[in-house]
This record gives sequence, structure tokens and C-alpha cells, in this order.
Amino acid sequence: MSPVCPRHGQSIASLSELVAGRAGDIDHWAVPGTYCLHFYLGQPLQLVVGRLGLRELPPGDLIYVGSAFGPGGLRARLARHLRTDKPLHWHIDFLTACLTPGIWREDNSGERLECAWVRELLALPGASVPIPGFGSSDCREGCPAHLVALRVPGMEVMIGL
Ligand SMILES: [Zn+2]
Repeated sequence: MSPVCPRHGQSIASLSELVAGRAGDIDHWAVPGTYCLHFYLGQPLQLVVGRLGLRELPPGDLIYVGSAFGPGGLRARLARHLRTDKPLHWHIDFLTACLTPGIWREDNSGERLECAWVRELLALPGASVPIPGFGSSDCREGCPAHLVALRVPGMEVMIGL
């Protein structure tokens, strides 16, 4: 298993700095919001995802859509995603425990955009749901999952990686 995504070194740095409090406007991040994490897999990855059991993720780009409306907002949540030594509680914890994410998109308008963003991603050509139910246990809008796999040539250009 590769511990670090080779595709978004800069994004990882930005996210680490943000969480460590070195990024410019910290208040911007200590607020509720919605975010997307990006992972890149060079080869298939098998992992146990809690009660979903042993699953396989396809190679390519993976986008997880989450929201942070609890204490500490986006900053606290993103810090959790960067830690590998955490109790594995949410589905996404099983993935971030072995792969460091980059952040692709965030919104702090206070609006709940999670499911709308999942629908946008699923509408992209080549988008699929690699693990049904992943991250969507609390979803109220019927998303098949909050993790989307993309195998689109030029994807990194499209999403600005
Ligand atoms: Zn949803």
C-alpha cells in the first residue's frame, strides 16, 4: 500500500499546513462546511471497511464528499482525516488510515452541499460507485455512496490537480 498519493503532493502540503495552523486565514477553516477529498490509486486497493467488510477499490481517482458541521468545523475534520492513529469509526477512516488525501474542494457558506456534489460527480462520464453505501450511512437524499471513482483521461486537468 502506498502511504502517500503521488499525484497531489502540493495538495497534501496545503492540507497539512492548514491543519497545523500555518495557512493564512484559519478562521476561514474553523467553520462548518462541505469538502471533497481526493485519493489516487495506482493499483487496486483491498481494504476492510468496517461492517461493509473486505472491499476492493479500483485504480484511478477517488473523490470522497464529506461535511463538517460539528465543533471545530472543517479544520477539525480535515485534521482527523490526516491522522493515521485514530479509532476507525467512519468508513472514510479506513481509507485515510492507509492513504493520505488531498483536498480538492471546500465550501464554508453554511449550506449543506454534500449530496448535491455527489450527484455532480456521478454525472461525470466514467464515474462509478466502487463501494455501495460508503460514507452515506447518514445520507438523507438517497446517494448510493459518498465515495465516487473516476476513470477519466485528463481528470487531473478537469479538477485542477
Ligand atoms: Zn448524500
